[in-house]
Amino acid sequence: MKIAFIGLGNMGGGMAANLVKAGHQVNAFDLSEEALGRARENGCETFNAIPDAVRDADAVVTMLPNGGIVKSVYTDDVIGKAPQGALFLDCSTIDLSTAREVAASAEGAGYQMVDAPVSGGIAAANGGTLTFMVGGSEGAFERAKTVLEPMAKAVIHAGAIGSGQVAKMCNNMLLAIHMIGTCEALALAGKAGLDPQKFFEISSKSTGYNWSLNDYTPAPGVGAASPADNDYQGGFASALMLKDLRLAMEGAQTAGATVPMGEHAMKIYEAFVQSGNGNKDFGAIFTTL
Ligand code: NAD
Repeated sequence: MKIAFIGLGNMGGGMAANLVKAGHQVNAFDLSEEALGRARENGCETFNAIPDAVRDADAVVTMLPNGGIVKSVYTDDVIGKAPQGALFLDCSTIDLSTAREVAASAEGAGYQMVDAPVSGGIAAANGGTLTFMVGGSEGAFERAKTVLEPMAKAVIHAGAIGSGQVAKMCNNMLLAIHMIGTCEALALAGKAGLDPQKFFEISSKSTGYNWSLNDYTPAPGVGAASPADNDYQGGFASALMLKDLRLAMEGAQTAGATVPMGEHAMKIYEAFVQSGNGNKDFGAIFTTL
């Protein structure tokens, strides 16, 4: 297939490279010259404008920072510029209402579109092991699967358009909550006189087990290897977690859902990021306790 790929940053760069490895022709565009240079090294053909990159594409994949950018890219440069019959896949994490609005514009112009946000960070993007949660019609999902599989460990149909973003915001709200809880428990164990490593051994096999504790232990030198062992460098930045929590709070307000723990988690990450820690891995909340 000929796939246009827009947004070749930390995530998109590796994803586009995996599409090339799978034998697709990838037409790449990014505002950053550096990102375009890396895409060329990975076998993509690069373009200076989005309409040129999408002109003869069978599918258009976007991996962009936020909903405002996704909306302007599709409205100004993709819808009406890509050939009729092209499939649009937005893999960015964005707010639900923009996801639905952009898909409605695309569908109004005769295109099929899915929202397909991902779970898994930069390593999974590079390794082709992302989990995609896909919102869209049955037909659009079947087409999307073929495009997404070379980048994926799992491709799951979440439901109608927007459902991928709902899954993503709920998943990351839950992740923030169990990460903060895990940090609190590890810190309390240590302060109350229990070796945190012993606490890890016990709780990771008891009812306290969860991904943050078992697979991404946020205390340095304890449990599973994680960014905590590298001064909280790399991993999933707290600023990105804050972005996802804000999207979840917006989504909860629109849906009329009550999310007191999610709200509290957002306030904790807000304070952490405002104190200059936005680049640190989200497990660094441990250092504040
Ligand atoms: P990034 O900032 O590294 O990359 C975004 C890229 O988009 C940049 O290269 C930027 O130059 C480009 N860009 C911005 N505006 C553009 C435009 N108008 N046209 C073309 N290119 C444009 O961000 P990232 O970490 O790759 O994240 C991308 C998306 O994936 C975000 O929505 C993020 O929330 C989501 N996500 C990230 C992670 C992660 O661990 N980094 C994990 C899961 C999901």
